[in-house]
Amino acid sequence: MSTPPVVTRFAPSPTGHLHIGGARSALFCWAFAKRHAGKFMLRIEDTDAARSSVESARGIIEDLEWLGIHNDLGPYLAPDGSIAQRDWPDGRVGTFFQAQRVPIYDRELERLVRLGRAYPAFDTPEETEAQRAAAAAAKQTYRYPRPAEIEFGVFNPALEARWARAKAGERHVVRFAAPREEIVVHDRVLGDVRIAAGELDDFVIRKADGFPTYHFAVVVDDESMGVTHVLRAQEHLANTPRHVALQRALGYPTPVYGHMPIICNMDGSKMSKRDKAKVARQFLSDTIKKGATTASAASADTGVAPADLAAFLAKENDSNEIAAKIASRFGLTLPEIEVADFRASGYLPAAICNYLALLGWNPGLKTPDGKDLEKFDMAFLAQHFSLERIGKQNSKFDRAKLLSFNADAIAAMPDADFRAAWASWLGDKAIHGDAGVATLRPVLDIVRDARRGAWLVTAIKARAKTLRGAYDSCKNWLVRPDDSKSFAPAAVEKHLKANNGQGAALLRAFATRLAACDPFDPPTIHALIDAFVKEHALPNPGPIAQAVRVAVAGEPVTPGLGETLAVLGKSSVLARITRCLEALAS
Ligand code: GLU
Repeated sequence: MSTPPVVTRFAPSPTGHLHIGGARSALFCWAFAKRHAGKFMLRIEDTDAARSSVESARGIIEDLEWLGIHNDLGPYLAPDGSIAQRDWPDGRVGTFFQAQRVPIYDRELERLVRLGRAYPAFDTPEETEAQRAAAAAAKQTYRYPRPAEIEFGVFNPALEARWARAKAGERHVVRFAAPREEIVVHDRVLGDVRIAAGELDDFVIRKADGFPTYHFAVVVDDESMGVTHVLRAQEHLANTPRHVALQRALGYPTPVYGHMPIICNMDGSKMSKRDKAKVARQFLSDTIKKGATTASAASADTGVAPADLAAFLAKENDSNEIAAKIASRFGLTLPEIEVADFRASGYLPAAICNYLALLGWNPGLKTPDGKDLEKFDMAFLAQHFSLERIGKQNSKFDRAKLLSFNADAIAAMPDADFRAAWASWLGDKAIHGDAGVATLRPVLDIVRDARRGAWLVTAIKARAKTLRGAYDSCKNWLVRPDDSKSFAPAAVEKHLKANNGQGAALLRAFATRLAACDPFDPPTIHALIDAFVKEHALPNPGPIAQAVRVAVAGEPVTPGLGETLAVLGKSSVLARITRCLEALAS
């Protein structure tokens, strides 16, 4: 008998954006499948109808594709934007959206009932709550009292009668008749994990709305979709004994389990999507305390209804939307938590994947100079990934290290690749929205322009740590109107007015040279500056360079002057210098 191919799955619930920890899980599943020439599957766990949305599913699919974590089985975005699915050649799975697989769960659930291992329960939610409260009052762990007629392996008349009531439409949930023996899970990362006999309760496997619970759907699908290895975060460890118990009752084999370390902030707290709300709340509370704003003014400024803002401040909700509104009103930077945040900040997918791979794993190899090998690409990961090297300890999310990975990745990129990545970031509607893309358009046009784009990239790439950083480093001088009258006063004083207006005089003289400069490209401008420095016996190019910078950018900071001026073009440069000299004179 040949062994089945390795199949791993990433199984997000589409209730929000893809969290960076989810991306790490997906990456490990992907890498393990690739390492074993297997298949990586994406399954959408959307059985919680109230919290799931197609938009979230779409966002998750898009984020994974953006990261380069492509699935072999599961949904993907077709070129026309619709969601298509990749199945096995024999169409084994059909759909990877759980909400559309209810008949499969129902069939398996009925089988379990007929095996005496599941039963409908007709208690009202109030009754269950009262039982729960009574147990809490008596300081006992609540266990649903299993009906006396349940016998493993037997579909007896009493159970049959219950099942008939359920089938007839009486409101019910279906509970699993859990085994009373100890359950041991052989986890490939954590070792044996035990849950004592009698610990499992008769948990619900189908809700009153007819949808399976997570536990049931996950078990049925891991089997029906051919999943051989379940690699997921340690948060799910407590669920695994339930899953193993269900597999045994259903007669399924148990897949290999590996639970990955929890991702923490540097302070040891768990990295969570609530972190954004925490930062925004802290900031706004402090600002109100300092008397710099009031709750009602903040509500008016942010457009968040007073009651919602009060609830947010009182920690009654952790709304990311409210956090984002506060951040945008007060110019506050929120920590990146979701893949979309890192994408918006201008991180490269390759750098993110490289960094994520080190959160709980490492290749255990050295560089030629004896350091731990940490920089690698997806192909390397697919070749070297192994469960044996996944750690048990929590991993710390070190933002500074990720940023340095990103900066190094940018520096290592050929200019043309950087330019393409930057252009796609500048034009990305998913990040900036339609209005944002319109604002960035002038910069994008320059980046796309054959000559100016190439000069701009030469000017800014070496210092750019992110694509946003690249934009930030040029947006002010690039989109500054030629007739702007704003010049930083201290810079004007120092670089133009000091020494009896030495800078201004140099600037005036230099402008005539620039007017005659042809071609107006970086090498010619550099040569012009060198000649000018010699001719005026300047100790270094500083005095003229800083004067020109203040004139064209309003402040003495721009990248290399040759590129900066060439990108702006002769007429803009001359217009800005003229405007600056006029402003000085008046
Ligand atoms: N839908 C679950 C989640 O998003 C997946 C858990 C699993 O991998 O089994 O947390």
